Order: sequence, then C-alpha cells, then structure tokens
Amino acid sequence: MKQKSGFGFYLLLIVLVFFFWYYFSATATSDITSKELFAQISEGKVTGIVIKQNAEVPTGEARVTIKDAKKVHILYVSDVNALQSELKVAGFDRYTVTNVPQDGWVKQMLPMLIVVAALFLLFMVMMNSQAQMQGGSGGKMMNFGKSRAKMTTQDKIKIRFEDVAGLAEEKEELAEVVDFLKEPQKYTMVGARIPKGMLLVGPPGTGKTLLAKAIAGEAGVPFFSISDSAFVEMFVGVGASRVRDLFNEAKENAPCIVFIDEIDAVARRRGSGMGGGHDEREQTLNQMLVEMDGFGENEGIIVMAATNRVDILDPAIMRPGRFDRKVFVGRPDVKGREDILKIHAKNKPLGEDVDLHTVARTTAGFTGADLENLLNESAIAAAKDNRKFIMMRDIKDSFVKVGIGTEKKSRIITEKEKKITAYHESGHAILFHVLPDVGPVYSVSIIPTGGSAAGYTMPLPEKDEMFNTRGRMLQEIIVDFGGRVAEELIFDDITTGASQDIKQATSTARAMVTQYGMSASVGPVCYHEEDEVFLGRDYGHVKGYGEAVAGEIDAEIKRILEECYSKARDIIKEHEDILEKCAGLLLEKEKISRAEFEALFGEE
Ligand code: ADP
Ligand code: MG
Ligand code: ZN
Repeated sequence: MKQKSGFGFYLLLIVLVFFFWYYFSATATSDITSKELFAQISEGKVTGIVIKQNAEVPTGEARVTIKDAKKVHILYVSDVNALQSELKVAGFDRYTVTNVPQDGWVKQMLPMLIVVAALFLLFMVMMNSQAQMQGGSGGKMMNFGKSRAKMTTQDKIKIRFEDVAGLAEEKEELAEVVDFLKEPQKYTMVGARIPKGMLLVGPPGTGKTLLAKAIAGEAGVPFFSISDSAFVEMFVGVGASRVRDLFNEAKENAPCIVFIDEIDAVARRRGSGMGGGHDEREQTLNQMLVEMDGFGENEGIIVMAATNRVDILDPAIMRPGRFDRKVFVGRPDVKGREDILKIHAKNKPLGEDVDLHTVARTTAGFTGADLENLLNESAIAAAKDNRKFIMMRDIKDSFVKVGIGTEKKSRIITEKEKKITAYHESGHAILFHVLPDVGPVYSVSIIPTGGSAAGYTMPLPEKDEMFNTRGRMLQEIIVDFGGRVAEELIFDDITTGASQDIKQATSTARAMVTQYGMSASVGPVCYHEEDEVFLGRDYGHVKGYGEAVAGEIDAEIKRILEECYSKARDIIKEHEDILEKCAGLLLEKEKISRAEFEALFGEE
C-alpha cells in the first residue's frame, strides 16, 4: 500500500507540473519593451512590425523585425489599437495587423481534459490498491473483478448440432444435457441427477468449443464462456472474484451453460508449479470448486470445460459433483472429415473438379479447425487468381501450406504409409482376438494422433488382476509382433514403425526371464537389478551374475521372442483373408469399432 500511494503522489506531481508549465508557456513575457521599440523606431532601425490581434480583443502581440538583428522580437500588448495610434504618432507605417484565429475547442479544453484524465487514472490506481488490501472483495467497487464472461443469449447462438460434423457418439452423449436444459422439471421430478460438470477432452481444433455452443444453441439457453487465461489476471484476487461473478450471473440466468476454455491453465495439479508462486491460480481454482460445490444438483447450470491435457489436471476437479463426466472429442475419421469439409464449403463455390471425398481421404489426422483453415486458404488462393470458385489446384496448394506448417508436418501421410499402418494394426487386432487371454479389441484406428503413433489398436481396459500369468505374458508378446508380421507378409519388407512394439516385447520377455523366473533353462532366479535406472551403473557396477549367466539370459530372451514371432506369423497366415478384409475396412473408414471388427470373423 505504501508503495502504491507513493506512486499516486508522483503521478499527482507530474500532473501539476504539466499544468503549470502549460499556463506559463501560454503567458510568455515580451523580449522587448514598448520603450525600447519606440527608441529603435526613432533610430530608424525597425524594418517592419506584424501586429497579431488576439481573439480576446484588444490584446495582442507585435512581432518586430529590426535591421541587423537576427531574431524577431515579440512585444505583448494589452491594447492593439493604442499601439497602432502610438505608431501613427511616431510616423511609422510599416506594420500590418492580422487576427489570430480563435483556438479550436479541443485546444482550449486540452489542459482540462488532461487533468481530468490524470485524476481519473490516479483514482483507479488508488481504488485498486485498496481492493488488494481487502483481499479481492473490494474488486467489485470498480467492477474490476467483474467477470469478463461473454454472455450470449439464445437469439445469438445460432450453432446447432447439425453444424458440428462427425462426432456422432459425442453428440449422442450430450443430447441428454440438451434435454435437461430444455426441460429440467422432467428430470428433477423423477429424482434424476444430472451431472453439474463435464469435461471435453481432445486435441485443439477438434470442435470442443463448437460442441459446447451447439448444446446451448439446441437448448436455447444462455452461453457464458470464459477462457481461463482471463481468470489469471495481474491483480491479486481478481481471478477469484471473476469466478464468483461469473457464477452469480449464471445463477441469475439458469438454465444456462458456463463454458470454461483451457481449464488446464488454472486447474493444473496444485503445488506442481515451479517455485510455488501460484497463489493467484490456486485461489482461482479454489473459488471455482467452492462455486461448483455451492450450487445444487439440478439448478440448471451445466459447467463445461475444455482441455487437451487431462493428465495435468488437479484430481480435485474430477471428483463427483464437479467435472465427473468426461467426453472425449477425437480427430475425425474420413467420413467425419468429409462432413466437416461439406459444412465449411457451403458458402464457398467449388469448381466441378473439386471432390471433397478425395480431399477427406488425403487429410488423415487433420482436425476440424485444420480443414476449415484448408478451405479458407483455398478460397484465398482462388481470389488471388481472380477466380470466383475454388479449384482442386487451390486445395492442393493450400494443403501443402496448411499441412506442412511446422509441427503438422508429421500429419501428412501418403497412401502407402496409410496402407502399411492398416495392415500393421490389423495384425495386432487379429492376434488380440484370436488369443484367449488378451483382448477383446475395443477399437482399431489408423487416424494419426499427431504424436509418434501412426495408429492404434485398443483392447478393452484390462480387468484388475492380481497377477499376470506366464501364458498371458507370452500372448502379449505375440500380439506385439502382430504389426511387424503383417507388414512382412504383405509388403515383403518391414518398416521402422514397429520399433516400439519390439521394444515392448523385449522388455516383457526380459522380465519373464530375469524377474519372474519363468524360464526353464535360466531357472527360478531373480537377476533383476532394482536400480536399473541408476545412472552410471555401467561404469564399473558389478552385475549380480557372471558373463556366462548373462549369455544364457540373452539366449533365453531371444528364444522366447523368436518363438512368439513365429507363432504370430502362423496365426496371421491362417487368418490372412481377415487381415485383408480388416485392412481394407480400415483404409475405407480409418476407425472401426469392436462390432465391425468382430463381424469380420462372423463368416468363418
Ligand atoms: P476446440 O475448442 O476443440 O479447440 P473449436 O471448437 O474452437 O475447437 O474449433 C475451431 C473451428 O474448427 C470451429 O470454429 C469450426 O469452424 C471448425 N471445426 C472444428 N471441429 C468441427 C466439426 N466437428 N464440425 C465442423 N466444424 C468444426
Ligand atoms: Mg476451443
Ligand atoms: Zn504396432
């Protein structure tokens, strides 16, 4: 506070100095006296005088030019007319009289305006330091802490579910939220509990914000949105008070949707920040939790939050009664991409050579935002070319521009790569299905994730089991080899894409031999080094076993891996027709569900 008032004081000082300077500069002093002037005139040295009559008649100034003098002298006079008659008396007629134009009102008012603005600024600074002293509650005094949530009411939100392409499962999941917002009584009457908070999780640009807006649009309720970066303000305590105001406003407008974008900015795991200086963020987060706990279950407020980093969120926000529901919003598959392209091509005339299906096929891994961007760039390219419609050429050019941009480089995959991935994932999937102790397959996908994985085959979440068995571990290794085996069978060549699988298989086999005593030849001995991560273990650290045993272990690991590899090969060869069908289906749809996958086996 001391520092703040000091600042205010200096501000005031500056204002006053400015003020006085202005006044003194306006009333400058003459640099020649009237007596001197007439003395010069009588000596005949004055060559000319320009008299400027001020707006405030009869004052004015005389600009006197004197022979041999470099500068023009100025004499301020209180009566221009008197000066003129005196000059006449002196017999001097080389003077002219002009009127100084009246100052514009802006110039006249300027000093006043400056002073007022400065005082206002000073007042704000003082108010704010006061708000700080009162721990944020004073923030309201100046509306400083008023939430910057943009309120959008029903006639403004025009987005409907039909504007969100793809995401069929997600929309289905959210349909009940729409219904609840439309008719809360229907649910409260039967005592149903509708979740208060929902977390939309997915990569940026996949349509999370769009989806939240569409819910508000469908239900016809107000939509309050705030981005978490707006919570964390430079003034302490303001974030928390923003949250409070946001929820107060929401309560007044229920039923409604509160949308918190980038929630990870505030709801990061508490205490994980470096240096610990995150009081403001924690205060804001705490306030948010308090507010969410504060309103009743069926008050008609649904809080939705979006993030792409669910792993770094504070577990506290995902407790029951808070954001206890997660909706995953993934990258679109071929069909989804085509639908998204169709939506964004609506107001863009397309040439007859443009085939959105082909575009969809070549943009694996693109998000909705990327696709929108792609069409926009194409439209710009067409306009540059003075064409009234977009041609395939524009899209191709823009594709490189949008796709090759920095980190998206990895997202452009060729048909060949796609094909390899399809067979690779099909190989894993078939083994998951055929082997008794692993699987079943939940979904298979060849949509690039943006990371290093070209696709994935997802088994159903594992049941919590106390221990793993030797048989299952072997089957896991076999599944790991599925991708490589399929590549080898079909393409007669292998790729580096299976390196992760091989690493995984090797580490499972090593654990079997050295840790769990599952190998007959090596025996039930633990050769596992606990401090395996310890740096420098290779520098003179004595292994718990000799070179002979080490050789034996390596041979045994190799034997297990080779055996599993050939088993994987046998099984996939036996099901080669399914491998073909599955890969074909994947190439067509990019993502297939458990039912679709299992149907492939149906005819057998
Ligand atoms: P997120 O919130 O997930 O980062 P947005 O909802 O802000 O993504 O999406 C950005 C833009 O991308 C949207 O405004 C829309 O134009 C486009 N978009 C993304 N997903 C879709 C989709 N499923 N259907 C139609 N347009 C989409
Ligand atoms: Mg968004
Ligand atoms: Zn693999």
